[in-house]
Amino acid sequence: MNGASTYSIVGAARSGLAVAALLAREGAQVFVSDAKPSSSCGDAEERLRSLGVAYEFGGHSGRVLESSTLVLSPGVPDTLAIVAQARERGMAITNEIEIAAARCRAPIVAITGTNGKTTTTELAGFIFRAAGRRTFVAGNVGVPFSEIVTEADNADVVVLETSSFQLEHTGTFKPKVAVILNVTPDHMDRYPDFEAYRQTKLRIAMNQDAGDALLYNADDAALADVPGRFESQAIGFSIRHEVPVGAFTRDGVLILRTPTGDGMREESVMPATAIRIRGPHNLYNSMAAALAARLMDVPAGTIAQALGEFAGVPHRLEPVRELDGVRYVNDSKATNVDSLWYALSSFSEPIVLIAGGKSKKNVYDAVLPLIHERVKAAVLVGDAADEMEQAFAAHTAIRRAGYSMENAVGIARSLAVPGDVVLLSPACASFDMFDNYEHRGDVFKALVNALASHSTEHAEVSPDHG
Ligand code: ADP
Repeated sequence: MNGASTYSIVGAARSGLAVAALLAREGAQVFVSDAKPSSSCGDAEERLRSLGVAYEFGGHSGRVLESSTLVLSPGVPDTLAIVAQARERGMAITNEIEIAAARCRAPIVAITGTNGKTTTTELAGFIFRAAGRRTFVAGNVGVPFSEIVTEADNADVVVLETSSFQLEHTGTFKPKVAVILNVTPDHMDRYPDFEAYRQTKLRIAMNQDAGDALLYNADDAALADVPGRFESQAIGFSIRHEVPVGAFTRDGVLILRTPTGDGMREESVMPATAIRIRGPHNLYNSMAAALAARLMDVPAGTIAQALGEFAGVPHRLEPVRELDGVRYVNDSKATNVDSLWYALSSFSEPIVLIAGGKSKKNVYDAVLPLIHERVKAAVLVGDAADEMEQAFAAHTAIRRAGYSMENAVGIARSLAVPGDVVLLSPACASFDMFDNYEHRGDVFKALVNALASHSTEHAEVSPDHG
């Protein structure tokens, strides 16, 4: 077999199955292993059988170590015993992104950061499509890269949402444009410390060369050491000051300053207020997506039009409805304290906040001034309600809704008056009450959409009462 690679894939979720299918189609010898029983893995077993791929469920046996390459799924921490054993044996360790990227000739725009990845990935995809480019959007955002790479190989661009977990075991991954949106504490249950988490994000640029670009948030102190660190050109974006090259605002106008072959070009794109997705965080996301597109020669006019049209992604500050003068907003994807901070920064109206869920050892200090200033009441749910009440009680009125979103919506509604915003922005994971954040957001939206207007309620009861 002249040393052909054989693969053991750890994790039979969506990306593990996609890479198994890709490799099996190429005729490689593939083995898939998952710690969970088959019954907890949906139709994974059936799919593997139809692919003709060998597999095991319910634990990782020595069979995993018989391949030349170990492919780790993003959900699998590399502290597992089987990973240490693979290392001892000298197996190559890699991941799904790496394998797919090695089979892709299309330029890749790869987007990472603690918050804003999905929004920026979808927005960049929207801009490239608006420009008529043959575009694929994949990665952490839903469709695994391996699932589309055969089709995308000769596309104009692949926009790839890249989580830190997916960057852990890349080896030659080399995006044409890399984006780091921000790095703030998250996933402290997976990484030994903040620096380890930050270093994982920086891996996105480690193989780039002088023909590539690294876009980074120039306002983020955690990214201050980015310029000059990699071979690619570091290009900043800032909502606070003008950058020598990159994106910024001047007198409320979004400006792009991008390198041309022999110099620099400055273009006024549009008033920032004409960008459809709102809030300072979305200005960062818009700057990053606009820069990525401009660097790949999308005209500024096309970018402006697309930024005026893109409506955002569900569960991220998603407007649900307006009822009796109160706006209801679903930000269920706010699963950490920083995203709550940005949500609170995005409204000037008084806020009735619904928050709580499964805490990730949250520290709330950073949001307390905004809670004090903008939140008229916090309706708390889930496991984290105690710690949040302790943190918030000096700054706003507290109401508790147990483990019931229905109670929470009912209480929030009774507290809100015309002109207020009822905001679900939990700052926590959802797993104490829901399957995932989408489920949480969908339940919230259904409850809000089922509320009857005060005026209809009165109209309905009045006939009975004469
Ligand atoms: P990710 O894919 O990185 O989780 P999303 O686009 O899904 O990012 O947004 C996650 C949460 O973070 C949402 O609550 C959203 O409103 C908020 N958010 C979006 N962009 C940013 C940003 N640039 N900085 C901080 N928070 C953001």
